[in-house]
Amino acid sequence: MIEIAVASGKGGTGKTMFSVCLSLYLSKQYKVLLSDLDVEEPNCSVFINGNELISIDAVKKIPEWESETCVFCGSCSENCNFHAVINLGQHVSIFPQLCHSCYACSQLCPTCSLPMNNHVIGKIRLIDNIDYTLLEGSLDVGEEQAVPLIRQTWKYAKGLSQDFDIRIVDCPPGNSCPLVAAVENAHYVVLITEPTPFGLNDLKIAVQTMNKMKKRIGVVINRHGLGNSDVEKYCNDNNIHILGTIKYDKRIAETYALGELVYNKIGHLHQSIIDITQEIFKEYAHA
Ligand code: SF4
Ligand code: SF4
Repeated sequence: MIEIAVASGKGGTGKTMFSVCLSLYLSKQYKVLLSDLDVEEPNCSVFINGNELISIDAVKKIPEWESETCVFCGSCSENCNFHAVINLGQHVSIFPQLCHSCYACSQLCPTCSLPMNNHVIGKIRLIDNIDYTLLEGSLDVGEEQAVPLIRQTWKYAKGLSQDFDIRIVDCPPGNSCPLVAAVENAHYVVLITEPTPFGLNDLKIAVQTMNKMKKRIGVVINRHGLGNSDVEKYCNDNNIHILGTIKYDKRIAETYALGELVYNKIGHLHQSIIDITQEIFKEYAHA
């Protein structure tokens, strides 16, 4: 099972469009599982018309206060590094969105008044169609921690490993903990960027993050021809492999905005996906 993560330093670079097109192209030869780990805004499902096979609640553990046995010692407040539990005189308040499920308050409570219980944070769905299968993590509105759901969705995907040849991961945008959690297990990371100063700035941060994680990377320049050549220069100067480019074409954005698949509709995009896929496999084979 090869795992290829598709990431971008910033949102709106065409990461999801590329993940979906890549999955569709690879599905002609392989069994592909596309994992949407952009859990705060998963939208791969917009482009897949299939049957929902599974929909389960994703949970994290949070403490639940049992007032009858509490002696109001304040130890829970003192031991929580995340301000997720506060002892206010004769009451203990818990803030589930802030809780990191570290168990400290629960284990250090002298009267065992904070047992850890399940708290629903979102959903994991498995959707199947004739081309490929989509596994989607989707965080509930108001929930702030994407990482536990990303890890649970990935774990679920791992459990399906024997049924698939390739796992494509659509990562969350940005360069913080959710991205790190999403690419943690990838064998290869494709960084999608655009030829603009913002694209270059965020690409540099993403490259630093991937280097720290010792990930093998390649860059795809989307909307090529729109801005300048600074991204290419940066990649060349830093020995970063450019896997390919996707030409700027207003029709891609127009089709995408309608929730339609652009893959087979625009010839040069189709060819770019084929060329980039070959480059990814060449790079992977040279590992
Ligand atoms: S540590 Fe336990 S006993 Fe102390 S205030 Fe918190 S819940 Fe109550
Ligand atoms: S489990 Fe950890 S993070 Fe959550 S409230 Fe307790 S001490 Fe705080």
